[in-house]
Amino acid sequence: MKLPANLTRADVVALERRHVWPPYTSSERHEATEPLVVVGAEGPWLEDADGRQLLDANSSWWTCTLGHGHPRLRAALTRQAEALMHVAAGGITHAPIALLAQELAAVAPEGLERVHFSDDGSTAVEVAIKVAFQYWQQNGRPRRTRFVTLSGAYHGDTIGAASLASLDEFHRVFHPILFDVVRPPRLGEAGGWDRVFEEVIAQVRARPDEIAAVVVEPLVQGAAGMQVYRPELLRALREATREVDTFLIADEVFSGYGRTGHMWACEAAGVSPDLLCTAKGFTAGVLPMAATLATGRVYDGFRGGAGRALMHGHTFCGNPLGAAVAREVLAVYRDERILERVRAAAPVIRAGFDEIAKLEGVRRVRTLGMIGAADVGDGGYGGRMGWRVFEAALERGAFLRPLGDTVYVVPPLNLDPDLLTRLLDILRDSVRQALTSRD
Ligand SMILES: *Cc1c(COP(=O)(O)O)cnc(C)c1O
Repeated sequence: MKLPANLTRADVVALERRHVWPPYTSSERHEATEPLVVVGAEGPWLEDADGRQLLDANSSWWTCTLGHGHPRLRAALTRQAEALMHVAAGGITHAPIALLAQELAAVAPEGLERVHFSDDGSTAVEVAIKVAFQYWQQNGRPRRTRFVTLSGAYHGDTIGAASLASLDEFHRVFHPILFDVVRPPRLGEAGGWDRVFEEVIAQVRARPDEIAAVVVEPLVQGAAGMQVYRPELLRALREATREVDTFLIADEVFSGYGRTGHMWACEAAGVSPDLLCTAKGFTAGVLPMAATLATGRVYDGFRGGAGRALMHGHTFCGNPLGAAVAREVLAVYRDERILERVRAAAPVIRAGFDEIAKLEGVRRVRTLGMIGAADVGDGGYGGRMGWRVFEAALERGAFLRPLGDTVYVVPPLNLDPDLLTRLLDILRDSVRQALTSRD
């Protein structure tokens, strides 16, 4: 792959610096650091403008579960592009979306049979909380207006999704316009996940008349730094929500699509939520598309005429290109036994991180499925040590963007076993280098 004719790497960087407003990046950082200029990507590899190949260790922000440019996904997209690229969802439907909804319901946790399509993880969550809220408004519990979340929650960047979060680094400035949620103490202050869940469950029991839903990232919180908790805790929370008959919303935007070794992290806990959000792996990173799944009971709460319809919708809701790719993703998962591959890779990742844990200066490691993370400093999201590891790994041929002082791997789920070993070696060597060259 090459840049377009008459365009150098420096031209691209200069234009980008002049006109693009990148996410989560200070202007100074944007102007002073050399971005990777990517010209192509195949399988787990990113290719930059100088022809350098880099392992995409975070699957392009956790989306490319099947690597880049999977031939079947490319073919499905091309086929659909030739037939129908877009049509609005109002009063119109098409085969890709009808079939996708059916196929998704078939692999979803028990009871989730309705699918509302949208564009990204934040809107999938936004839809779930609006559904929960509106449900209780029109089904006899109008005082149920509050949401309960976990410590360290991240559910996206729109105002509703950000209201659920407790990552101050991301959303502090918006506090005055976010709505209030019931949240337990921070993980550290609470003294661990058991205490956090005790507190959440106590809140659910104490305020059954106020709680519209509990929103969780099942088993693993991505943006919080790959924080992992035991399935039993999720199960206990599900039981508590059932006791008081309120909703559990599972945000599987990161944890779904096999990342944990199960299609859905909820399955590992034997839990079926009332609403489930999926995005990142949904089109395996090919197109921005998301879905919110709901039970028949939730859907039925919106019967009874126009005044009770779900008041939400997006222009690109159910886009045929996205739907065709999402269907092919499910087929590839089946045919290429992706979940089995994750289960085979999980112990390799665990062993790799056990080695990293032995390095002097490494605070804590955790792994789950094809996720491995290590804290290399105490700076949290603002920490700089993770970025030193990033620089060292880049030299060795891996793109390992950290979450501050948390370095992690979230590789494509179909990564070749030899490359997984190589990636873990690169990470270990880079952590060692960064921690020993510390000033
Ligand atoms: C990434 C993420 C989101 C937000 O998804 P976007 O597509 O970035 O809007 C929501 N929830 C979780 C758990 C995520 O990891």
